[in-house]
Amino acid sequence: MSNVAAATFGLDEALEQLGLGEINEGTSTGSNNFGSGEVIESYSPVDGDLIGKVTTTSKEDYEKVMTAASQAFTFWRKVPAPQRGEVVRQFGEKLRELKEPLGKLVSYEMGKSYQEGLGEVQEMIDICDFAVGLSRQLHGLTMHSERPGHRMYEQYHPLGVVGIISAFNFPVAVWSWNTALAWICGDVCVWKPSEKTPLCGVACQNIIAEVLKENNLPEGISCLINGDYKVGEFMTHDKRVPLVSATGSIRMGKIVAQAVAARLGKSLLELGGNNAIIVTPDADIKMTVIGAVFGAVGTAGQRCTSTRRLIIHDSMYDQVKKALVDAYRQLRIGNPLDENNHVGPLIDKDAVKMYEAALEKVKTEGGNILVEGGVLTGEAYESGCYVKPAIVEAENSFDIVQEETFAPILYLLKYSGGVENAIAIQNGVVQGLSSAIMTNNLREAEQFLSAAGSDCGIANVNIGTSGAEIGGAFGGEKETGGGRESGSDAWKIYMRRQTNTINYTTELPLAQGIKFDL
Ligand code: NAD
Repeated sequence: MSNVAAATFGLDEALEQLGLGEINEGTSTGSNNFGSGEVIESYSPVDGDLIGKVTTTSKEDYEKVMTAASQAFTFWRKVPAPQRGEVVRQFGEKLRELKEPLGKLVSYEMGKSYQEGLGEVQEMIDICDFAVGLSRQLHGLTMHSERPGHRMYEQYHPLGVVGIISAFNFPVAVWSWNTALAWICGDVCVWKPSEKTPLCGVACQNIIAEVLKENNLPEGISCLINGDYKVGEFMTHDKRVPLVSATGSIRMGKIVAQAVAARLGKSLLELGGNNAIIVTPDADIKMTVIGAVFGAVGTAGQRCTSTRRLIIHDSMYDQVKKALVDAYRQLRIGNPLDENNHVGPLIDKDAVKMYEAALEKVKTEGGNILVEGGVLTGEAYESGCYVKPAIVEAENSFDIVQEETFAPILYLLKYSGGVENAIAIQNGVVQGLSSAIMTNNLREAEQFLSAAGSDCGIANVNIGTSGAEIGGAFGGEKETGGGRESGSDAWKIYMRRQTNTINYTTELPLAQGIKFDL
């Protein structure tokens, strides 16, 4: 690692601790990856430097991975769930030990701030804790049989090989949301991380592989496959993968959903959002501005829950607009490893092009640019991925406003009249992930949360749209895909439900009172 910033940041040491010391050699990945395909080079959006190379998974390699995973499943499904939980507990402990190096890699490879990198690893630790407790609570219901001397209940069994396809913006947390639950449920996992953040995938695989080895467990319980969509397609078309959990764009989700449905598999889809905050006449302006600015520019607008639209009551519009423009003037854009900066880079130059195209499009549709965007140049921005957060006055009906642009562009939309008009605007997009209302008015808040309110999977009051706690089920409706991950009863998707009826008499009465005398 030649780069001065990365060296000061301690990246070499972090890579060493994560078992990635030799990664520049073009190594294969993770203990049970048989990578023999092309090599992906991973460049940091922070400074444009090459961090390392990863070998992709060929079809032949994939077959070996699936054999290892399928064999591991025949063993793992018989291990009692609390013992599986103990392995997840140890994995969480390892993550605690490696929180700093893994947080550094996440930050440097993805481009989010170090604080957010650490936060992402903390989410992994939290979901492990959650899963450990859950490993003693995989309960089903019992119900009374209509037949005398019969007992009826339902139980949950593991599914098998769970395929995980993840996006670049949460390069490690999304995997753990799936795996921690899937493992305690008795499944084994095959993960294809984003081709834009492959080293994060290798690092995670190395961590779990060590835990499995220490416990004398088959390494096929956790498998890694690397590459782009073509490698993802190995799993979506594979009948041996009963559940594919896919996180990414709506475009990807539509393709994955169709491929998995064509073989009647299950898919768990966590797709794009177009999240809005409603600002009512009773909103606290200070809280609104903090929530909106963090939601719009945090992670450079590359969170699925990023705030993209602000729906402001006309009586407050000018005041909120001014406060936002003032706040944007104070934003510091630059190296995300420097904690004084608020906004880091986009993931790559393609993302920069999409950001520029969106700003052009909103202008042609009649949008009024309030805070000018643009790509930053100069030594501090040499990766070419740093852009200025922009604010645009727009209409919800604009084509570009209807789309999710994965960049820091915030659209201001005006509403008048009652909160139901704001809710109609908020719901007037195809996505349904996260939503929020800023109000001190109980009636408005409850209306927003009611069945006639927000149609999103997440609806917050006096909190922005961005971020979520692992204890709640996470996911969205409509074209966001309908999947739920993480807390609550999201574990059920990783299991198959079986209804059992036991007859402890010497008679064989039939259900529904049917007589069948012989
Ligand atoms: P993307 O759709 O380009 O890629 C996501 C993953 O899907 C990658 O691993 C990619 O290789 C794989 N993939 C793409 N096409 C595929 C196909 N046909 N078959 C199988 N796999 C395929 O998304 P991205 O740019 O990495 O991430 C940004 C998107 O992810 C945004 O839309 C964001 O909102 C969304 N996202 C959603 C959530 C959520 O929980 N709802 C979380 C994070 C990101």
